[in-house]
Amino acid sequence: MTRELHDGYGRGINYLRISVTDKCNYRCVYCMPEEGVPARAHDTLLRAEEIARFVRLVASEGITRVRLTGGEPLVSHRIVPLVAELRAIPQIEDISLTTNGALLPSLAPALRAAGLDRVNISLDTLDAGRFAAITRRGRVEQALAGIDAALEYGFDPVKVNTVVVRRMEQDVLELAKLSLERPVHVRFIEYMPIGGGEDPVAGTAEARPSSPSAMNSAGPHCGASAASALNPDLWNASDVVPSAELRERISAEGVAAGIGALEPVDSRDGAPYGAGPARYWAFPSAAGTVGFISAMSNHFCSSCNRLRLTADGALRPCLFSDAEYQVREALRAGDDDAVRAIYREAIAHKPQEHDQIDGTQRFMSQIGG
Ligand code: SAM
Ligand code: SF4
Repeated sequence: MTRELHDGYGRGINYLRISVTDKCNYRCVYCMPEEGVPARAHDTLLRAEEIARFVRLVASEGITRVRLTGGEPLVSHRIVPLVAELRAIPQIEDISLTTNGALLPSLAPALRAAGLDRVNISLDTLDAGRFAAITRRGRVEQALAGIDAALEYGFDPVKVNTVVVRRMEQDVLELAKLSLERPVHVRFIEYMPIGGGEDPVAGTAEARPSSPSAMNSAGPHCGASAASALNPDLWNASDVVPSAELRERISAEGVAAGIGALEPVDSRDGAPYGAGPARYWAFPSAAGTVGFISAMSNHFCSSCNRLRLTADGALRPCLFSDAEYQVREALRAGDDDAVRAIYREAIAHKPQEHDQIDGTQRFMSQIGG
């Protein structure tokens, strides 16, 4: 068994998140500009074989868990062979994938057969009009069909990720209720400053709903204008809904709806596998759970075990720091020792924590969210 490498603060690094592409079939308002990310010269992006080769090298340095993300990983034509190549690496124990779910109904059987263990599906609302406004080009039925396909083909666990942005006016109780009948883990994630700038209009009267009742009187297109005012390059702290506030709100709405309050669960009681930062709760007698990831209100840097590989071949030790270690040329030169040396250097420079979360210059789709 290979021992994992430790960074300068004693954290063992065994988890690699890989952005297999920075392209996407959606344009979520908080994640990408409407026209998509700026096109890169094709040869600056890692090919699937290069990604697999990199993982083979770092598997012998202690990486045992890999998550494929993007952009939208399922728009990559090489995603199924890539999963198969990663599955063939003996040290890799766990392969997961984060997707918007749209292409999962058609790809789930091949991904399962290739050896993918589990999937996270992003879904920010169940309201058809608001979903179209947030994703700019998706339909909510696609994501729901993706969740059902994931369950049907035996991915385990199936997690649903919801980024909560105050101005998006999301139907959070309806999303949490997905866990009542289905064995899924619905996780609410605090909105993080990716993209770099500050939004000068967030928090002003015209950008925010005038009252809680304005937020709740959701017609089919409610939220569309507020969502379209969002800009992935401009983040504002007033859009962050702290997990504690959200949990209280979902719990109170659950009581009012006759479902009951959220109760804490721990790993013995069915919280899903994964050494991730979510804390899990559940409605009484629910098949699944409701999780909260407090990226903003509660730092989890001290237990951070991960490194990111961007679509253009840079290693990022921290999501919120723009420090990067470029590994593409060493990979292409076939210089395995140089690749390993860059990998070790990236781990050695993993910051203890991000001093303050104040944004990073790349879009989430380029880093690998
Ligand atoms: N396209 C895939 C998807 O949407 O699941 C994978 C890539 S996407 C960048 C990964 C996750 O990052 C999604 O759940 C998305 O909602 C989340 N995300 C994007 N921008 C974010 C932000 N500023 N704060 C928090 N999460 C964000
Ligand atoms: Fe695409 Fe995922 Fe970003 Fe939405 S969150 S634009 S689906 S990469």
